[in-house]
Amino acid sequence: MTSVSIVKEFTWSMAHMLANHIGKCKNIHGHTYKMQIEIARKGGGVLNKPGQTDDGMVLEFEELKTIINTNTVEALDHAFLYWVNSTDELEHEIASLLKKHGRKVVDINYRPTAENLALDYLDKINNDLAAFKVEVVELVLWESPTSYARVLNR
Ligand SMILES: [Zn+2]
Repeated sequence: MTSVSIVKEFTWSMAHMLANHIGKCKNIHGHTYKMQIEIARKGGGVLNKPGQTDDGMVLEFEELKTIINTNTVEALDHAFLYWVNSTDELEHEIASLLKKHGRKVVDINYRPTAENLALDYLDKINNDLAAFKVEVVELVLWESPTSYARVLNR
């Protein structure tokens, strides 16, 4: 079966810590995350809009870039990811201190592993794209140049 999709990459920096991790990931540290999202039209194919700017496209790259940057990347870039149900008291103290000083903190209700983040972003981005009748069929979240989590929605 033939299918057509588009893929776009985004990068940002973010800090986190992993409560209950037996290794070094229990320490506060950061990553330059790279996210690759593959988008397809619901029902497949491309737009058939002769004479229009997006004729023959799944979705305009520029439009996709604006939506993801505005709703996702800008909200996360240079933030500390704060797991509000963390079992590590230090994480609550760090988040509290950062908030007290007006620094960027993003509250989440799950342990901030690459896998959980990828699942969360797939959901969030699909909500943001629903009005365009497209969906994310694959999301890859790189946490380092050699490690990534991947979620499929096919
Ligand atoms: Zn990490």
